[in-house]
Amino acid sequence: MVARPKQIKINHEFIKELTKLPECEHLKNCYQCGTCAAFCPSFKYSKVYNPRRIVQEVLVGLKDEIIKDTNLWFCGLCHACTEQCPQGVELSEILSHIRNLASKIGNIPAHLVGEVKNLLETGQVVPPSSAINRRREKLGLPEVPEAPADEIRALAESTGIKDMVMRNEEMEKEKERQIAEEAKARMEKLEKEKKEEA
Ligand code: SF4
Ligand code: SF4
Repeated sequence: MVARPKQIKINHEFIKELTKLPECEHLKNCYQCGTCAAFCPSFKYSKVYNPRRIVQEVLVGLKDEIIKDTNLWFCGLCHACTEQCPQGVELSEILSHIRNLASKIGNIPAHLVGEVKNLLETGQVVPPSSAINRRREKLGLPEVPEAPADEIRALAESTGIKDMVMRNEEMEKEKERQIAEEAKARMEKLEKEKKEEA
């Protein structure tokens, strides 16, 4: 029997859910011209990220594939695709929404989680280190002023971002636990096979 390729799950509800959002009003008008990719700075430098292909996958209903795709985070949200699309597709806004969905399942780069944690702790995404302050002093620049951390924390928490970070950390721990368990099971299997051969 000929082996069949892996089946892809088509989510027919995905496009219906998206087109209810104001930013997705023109999504179905995409005719795959590729203008978004031609103007995309991320696509220029990294061909693994292609905004035209993302729209195509959205239209086909590949929700699981899209929100698990780590390449989503290559988008710099510069909005060039939205400005240039001849069909009025607000792709950068759609990508923001998709990345929110991705972050809910733990698909969010570790460096961004670290930056959000910094923001919640200090009110700054990149808190100035003593090395930064020394360099600033050499250049005759004043120290970076402290941020109103409490206010920024309150704002950030009201968006649900703190819960998202905590959920993400739990998911990462679970992934690590699973990897460790799989490695242990493999080692045990190997040792058992060795004993049986001996
Ligand atoms: S530029 Fe607009 S119409 Fe063309 S592929 Fe991109 S989203 Fe679709
Ligand atoms: S918003 Fe993202 S997808 Fe659109 S052009 Fe900029 S980097 Fe590319």
